[in-house]
Amino acid sequence: MQLKERAKLRRNEWETRIWSAIVSYASVAPDDSPSAVARRFKGALAECMDWIGGGLDDVQLCKDLQQVLSSQGEKFTSTDQPEVDKALELLAALYLVEVITVLAWLSVPERRGKLAPRAVEFLRKHGTGIIGHLGSSGRPFAESGLLIDEEWPEEMPSVISPICKFLLDQVHRHDLEGEPLRDAIPIVQCDRPSCGKFRLVRKTRAEKNYFCSNLCKVKFHGAKTSKKEKAAYMRDYRKTVKLTKKGEKRK
Ligand SMILES: [Zn+2]
Repeated sequence: MQLKERAKLRRNEWETRIWSAIVSYASVAPDDSPSAVARRFKGALAECMDWIGGGLDDVQLCKDLQQVLSSQGEKFTSTDQPEVDKALELLAALYLVEVITVLAWLSVPERRGKLAPRAVEFLRKHGTGIIGHLGSSGRPFAESGLLIDEEWPEEMPSVISPICKFLLDQVHRHDLEGEPLRDAIPIVQCDRPSCGKFRLVRKTRAEKNYFCSNLCKVKFHGAKTSKKEKAAYMRDYRKTVKLTKKGEKRK
């Protein structure tokens, strides 16, 4: 992204866009194909490369991608290369569970403290090993308007590194800069275990369960509620669906 463009985006708007991309990668449905997950991973990766001053082309600096390519006797030529897409598909699947763990913890750290050691270790391992270039081209400040006008990644352990770096920076907004948790980390996860979808939400109450849909709420409470209550839930749910469908037809 051009620096001028970047300046136009208010701090939170830029971060919200990156969060959406990461949340989309981590919200996997049972019928998602590996290539669909990989596409969403590539989107999140592009956003986070931008966050650290690089571009999607900089995936060629990631050691894990280099390893996968060289094990197949391939060399990086461009981000549109089918071999690169295949390698990214493999890596997107490899890191998915850990990314879900990190987001699940961050979404309600009050209730999911048990995940913290594993999540933090993943962020440490991948988010702190980026070596960046910082420099000055010598252009006068009056002309460039920048204090540091050269900044880009030079070396990265992994394709997941830029994403981990972004997540660590958001943790620091809360821990070091004192921003409220939900401002720095605006995500929630559906509490129904077999769903687990993430959403971007600014205000939630940590002590309350969150569900991405009525259906998830019904299914989650299903085990605890009586048959009568379940039937009432379902009647309510069907009514809502019917109303929504009618509303759609009218359009
Ligand atoms: Zn759900």
